[in-house]
Amino acid sequence: MSKNAGLRKRADAPHTTASLDLPPAFARRPPNAPDYVAPNLGDPNDPDAAYTEPRAPRPGMLIGLCVGVAVSLTLYLVVFYETISTPTDAAGYTADGTNLLDVTRLTLVHNVTVRTMDPAVPDGAALLVRGNEIARIIGANDAAYTLQSLRGTGVTVVNGHGAYVYPGLMDSHGHFLGHGLALSRPNLVGLPSVSAVRTVLRDFIAQSPDDSYSDTRWLVGNGWDHTTWTDATDGAGAFPTAADLDSDPVLTSIPIALQRIDVHAYWLNQRAISLLGQLPLDVAGGAIKRDPITQEPAGVFVDNAMFLVDNVMPAPVDADWDAALTRAQTDLVRFGVTAVGDAGVLPPAMAALVRGAHSGELKVRVHAMISCPQDVQHQHIQAPAPAFCAETVQGLVEAARNVSDRVAIRSVKLFLDGALGSHGAALIRPYDDASETKGIVRCSSWECPELNEVVRKWDAAGFQVNIHAIGDHANQLAINALEQVKAEKRPRIEHAQILTLEDIDRVAKLGILPSMQPTHATSDMGYAQSRLGLDRLRGAYAWQRFLQAGVTHLPLSSDFPVESPDPLEGMYSAIARMDHDAKSPHGDQTPWFADQALTPYQAVKGFTSDAAYASFMDTIIGTIAPGKRADLVFTDVDLAHITNAQELLPKSGKRRVLATWIDGKCVYEKDAWCARGVEVQL
Ligand SMILES: [Zn+2]
Repeated sequence: MSKNAGLRKRADAPHTTASLDLPPAFARRPPNAPDYVAPNLGDPNDPDAAYTEPRAPRPGMLIGLCVGVAVSLTLYLVVFYETISTPTDAAGYTADGTNLLDVTRLTLVHNVTVRTMDPAVPDGAALLVRGNEIARIIGANDAAYTLQSLRGTGVTVVNGHGAYVYPGLMDSHGHFLGHGLALSRPNLVGLPSVSAVRTVLRDFIAQSPDDSYSDTRWLVGNGWDHTTWTDATDGAGAFPTAADLDSDPVLTSIPIALQRIDVHAYWLNQRAISLLGQLPLDVAGGAIKRDPITQEPAGVFVDNAMFLVDNVMPAPVDADWDAALTRAQTDLVRFGVTAVGDAGVLPPAMAALVRGAHSGELKVRVHAMISCPQDVQHQHIQAPAPAFCAETVQGLVEAARNVSDRVAIRSVKLFLDGALGSHGAALIRPYDDASETKGIVRCSSWECPELNEVVRKWDAAGFQVNIHAIGDHANQLAINALEQVKAEKRPRIEHAQILTLEDIDRVAKLGILPSMQPTHATSDMGYAQSRLGLDRLRGAYAWQRFLQAGVTHLPLSSDFPVESPDPLEGMYSAIARMDHDAKSPHGDQTPWFADQALTPYQAVKGFTSDAAYASFMDTIIGTIAPGKRADLVFTDVDLAHITNAQELLPKSGKRRVLATWIDGKCVYEKDAWCARGVEVQL
């Protein structure tokens, strides 16, 4: 807005004095307002009690009236305080043209239980939102009178119908735009056979416009997993081949590349292979699966051999990224997610975030972690080892800084190792079930000598440093390198999955934030012990050990789309440490290492205030407190006080997330929940 916007607005405004802008309830300010006396409203658990009007005069009515006036006065002061604490002109306009005395910017949400997740701010029974900010949390004793005093004032009133209100949920580590891209592609997750994959692809092509795919626009799919294929005559038991795809004529004429569910392999058809050009015989740190007789590439490219595909496969264009942003956001707000850490963003994706923030399309707040591109030609391919590239992305970092508070690019993600499932996590000692390997380190050598210098450079350039480390060796390397970073820079280890007990203590002492995924524990628990052995498991997925060691913030996340982006499922895993059928390797109805399970409150804290802290967003989100953004989730389950964790799951029959607000606006509603709640005129 221009500097003169406020003046222009004032000239257009219907009233010229502050007093005329005040609604009667605010203007009725008695000369000697009595001190507040808490009225007895009967059963606080009866939601209807909050707005039952007194039917006949009764003793104490006068006190009630006085209290009503006092509450009105309080609300007046809330607004008035803002006016005097923010520079305004005589009519209450700030320099950007907003009128702090304008009651039409106020929304009262009542008939709710407000869980602030801030120990310094008591929970409430109603919430006053001004524009995009929380103005006031109203206690149970004040709620009814607040409602009465605002009758007919122009304040929007929303009946929450008994819902719980929590701070908007934040997923600290997901792949926001990657998720959006995946949502626009054929989904191969959970299919039972190769022919089922072919059917999905054929249907997808049939529903796409004729010219959708060509040598410069490949069909890309996600999520196949040959270990879940059950029919031995239909692909089960081995990696698939190009011939498996080419057996369907519809799938031969366009290049097809299908990513395995763990993102560690591509499966190509012959058309795509033919576009790769001359291929090396061997690839260090990867494999080209070959036909045993002809020795020709058979179709699957594993780990580092995937770069051979990435180098040739056309990158998504701007329109693809923009569509991905919208798809990802639409999906996430359904789960109450209002902010995400995008864990590893290459320049084209960063540009899409900046465009989205600029146009207003981006609603969800994104803490984007830079991923360095391989080189100038391959801006969409991640560098193979930890690298420094602040100069390369400087323009985008500045563009993000200037555009809005929806996107922040102030951190970097460095990768050290792979995942436990594929024996890629870097371990100090060999795997128990594969004694020939200790996993992989994505550096020039096992000790990753370049890491210290790369971390030092990013830190000196003012970026938060977040290091992906899963195995205990990778975590040790990460801690050694992060030792040089001050705690107030909030360095993070992404996953922090398997650590020695001594290293857990070092994490706490150094103020490193372990950024952890509860669902990874419940997904891995079936094979973790055979891979690691009991001794190493003591420091694996060890949420309580971190807290007991003195870690004060435990940001939680899902790593979507690797896992479901639903934070309530994450909370379930954190609290229950069992699968959705209440089973674990330790038995039915028995948590897997119960002593490491989080309490419901700790789990919610991980998905709200701890996540906000780990993203430097704690000044604006993460708790419900006056002055913070009105990013809210309305639920029919009391997340932080839940007694039956199963109620967090979709199959429980609970409606779970009823609505999601960002900046005081309803961005998702189940069954028109927001619209039905509005009682503009009482
Ligand atoms: Zn991830």
